Amino acid sequence: MSSPSGGYVWTDRFLDYDFGPDHPFTQRSRRLAVRLLQAVLAQQDGSRVEFRDEVPVAPWAYLETFHEPEYLEQVSRASNSEHPGFLDQGDTPGFPGCFEASARIVAGAAWAVETALRTNRPTFHPAGGLHHAHPSRASGFCILNDLALAIVEAAGEGRKVAYIDIDAHHGDGVMYGLYDSGAVLDIDFHQDGRTLFPGTGFPEESGRGDGAGLKVNIPLPPGAGDETLAPLFRRLVPPLLRSFRPELIVLQHGADGHAGDPLTQLQYTSRSYDEIDALVLDLGRELCHSRVVVAGGGGYRPESVARVLARAGIAALGLEMPAPTDPLPPAWREEFEAEWGRAAPRTWLDPLEQGGPHSSGEVGAEVVRALERALGRSFPPPGRD
Ligand SMILES: [Zn+2]
Repeated sequence: MSSPSGGYVWTDRFLDYDFGPDHPFTQRSRRLAVRLLQAVLAQQDGSRVEFRDEVPVAPWAYLETFHEPEYLEQVSRASNSEHPGFLDQGDTPGFPGCFEASARIVAGAAWAVETALRTNRPTFHPAGGLHHAHPSRASGFCILNDLALAIVEAAGEGRKVAYIDIDAHHGDGVMYGLYDSGAVLDIDFHQDGRTLFPGTGFPEESGRGDGAGLKVNIPLPPGAGDETLAPLFRRLVPPLLRSFRPELIVLQHGADGHAGDPLTQLQYTSRSYDEIDALVLDLGRELCHSRVVVAGGGGYRPESVARVLARAGIAALGLEMPAPTDPLPPAWREEFEAEWGRAAPRTWLDPLEQGGPHSSGEVGAEVVRALERALGRSFPPPGRD
């Protein structure tokens, strides 16, 4: 393995993105992922790893490259109000300072993309991946769409960008926001929209205009786990990327497909996450000089978010991956317990990950047939990468 390199971005100011103590989304579990990543970094030679811990608020003009000015005004008003109410139908509350908190996460994504492009090394933005925000509205705990903005900027400079989204929810803000774009290949694995928010992301939704055939939606049924996700990913993603030839890959990783997430019914484990992370980084090396950005995305069980996203960061930075039975650092466990008031996990392996397969390969065959019809192309048979 080559020595660790790349970059990651985190500041505790990202904790300002805070919907209150009773809301399921919290950056506190992303901070625990960062602390775990840093504990691993401290044990290996991370001298070539760049850590960005000062992040400004992205400027208004930059936000307007994806978001409507009227919507930004609405967020700004909410941000300056003491009791702003919801920014959407009832999932995403405004809060004092919500504009700046959101625009800082946007700036983190801009840094991650710019740094990956400049250094030809992967970067990691665990606080980012707010993929439900639309140009003119908040949605699903997402106020500003940090990744869509960063992709628009990279594509505006004439680059082709592959966006891959393995969050349990469909990345509707990114996909519909860039539905016409011929510069953006969007591949999205998610729990079937008939069973989960936001209710979109079907194979027939394959893009429009210059973007026709470049939006690839892979819905999976509730209960789907590694045995569904990993073979489909191996079968679909490499040929799609190789024919598109991106100059940048953005992975919205998510941790809410993990078995045990309270808001979704997928059953992924670190086995498929590790495999997918490694494959995306391999494709990055093969196709675009390792210009790969990995962003955090959703995840609502701190035990899962911390470990799944820490592993994603470990992979992105080229660090040696801990063994499943390796103990977690005592100082980290203390921080977890102080934060959550319950016993911290003891090892990298989650007890929930020890179950058997949850669904059959037949699901994969059916969705591939639907994609072949929608995209007008064929994919290699299963088992041949
Ligand atoms: Zn999600």
